[in-house]
Amino acid sequence: MSSFYGSEPIGDVVCPLCLATSGRILYRVTPGESAKVFIRPTINPEGYRELESVIGALWGGGECRQVRCDGCGSVYAWPHRAGDARFYNLAFREHMRYPQNRWEFAAAAQFVARDAKGPMLELGAGDGAFVRTLRSAGVPAGAIHAVEYADAPREQIAAIDPALSAFSSLEQFLERAGPNACSHVFAFQVLEHVQQPVEYLETFRGLLQAGGLVCMAVPNPGHIETNEQSGLLLDMPPNHVTRFTVKGISALAERAGFEVVHSEVEPFVYRDWLREFLSYHFKRRVQNEGSVQHWIERKLPWRLATMAGAVLAMPSALLHSMKPNEGGSLFCVLRARG
Ligand SMILES: [Zn+2]
Repeated sequence: MSSFYGSEPIGDVVCPLCLATSGRILYRVTPGESAKVFIRPTINPEGYRELESVIGALWGGGECRQVRCDGCGSVYAWPHRAGDARFYNLAFREHMRYPQNRWEFAAAAQFVARDAKGPMLELGAGDGAFVRTLRSAGVPAGAIHAVEYADAPREQIAAIDPALSAFSSLEQFLERAGPNACSHVFAFQVLEHVQQPVEYLETFRGLLQAGGLVCMAVPNPGHIETNEQSGLLLDMPPNHVTRFTVKGISALAERAGFEVVHSEVEPFVYRDWLREFLSYHFKRRVQNEGSVQHWIERKLPWRLATMAGAVLAMPSALLHSMKPNEGGSLFCVLRARG
């Protein structure tokens, strides 16, 4: 089977995880191709053009490359530029829906002792779904600190229990927190969005007691790769700028004063996979102006168009359901060295 990915070598790059300076270009994207994933030009042409120019300015040019590191096998965007506030405000203008039951919440709860006193920090806490998991595991509300940048979900966290502390930024939390105080830091689906994950881990190290734990989850790179090779939606920068392998996470942990003590890939669940396949199949094809899906998008309301797109994706889904796949998340636990 021919691969969607190329293998052209590239030097003068720096892996954000292991610092290796060479890799292979999997594919290249233009600002317009990236913007299309977040805003449909057919539906919102002005928003699309604005986002395209914001992405072009971030990259400082007409293209970004997805590079697979020769050292750790992780994939990162080059230029390695994370989305800024303008990007997120445009690309995710619609109200974000936060998943309430992520697999990694239960995985992480296993690493919190029944009598845990904390303090604990969750970075990127959404509307508090994991905070509720901690509360049901018996962690006292006064031991839980949550950082959430968006106002509306942060207010929902604060409403869970008056003893909880919710902060609008990591900096705001750092002003209050003493060094080496925390027992746990949680970061679910956060580090793939940031430019310098090592700086975050170094900050976490400063917050943690020796032996304290970082419980982190990132998108599973094997799952993304199977999706992209199956013709589904591309995992586009500058939203996600790094795809972490366990080897890459180990190198990163080492640099920041941690060791990886546990790693686990989310189990495959057919129903979840099928739902994602039908949606991502449509979202990829709708970007191609000559496609039936593109025609449908222009003729039907979006909800109906996505339903028609799902029907069109069925034969391909059946074909791909014979192939092995993995769940969407990679969960790791890092222990702070003494
Ligand atoms: Zn690397």
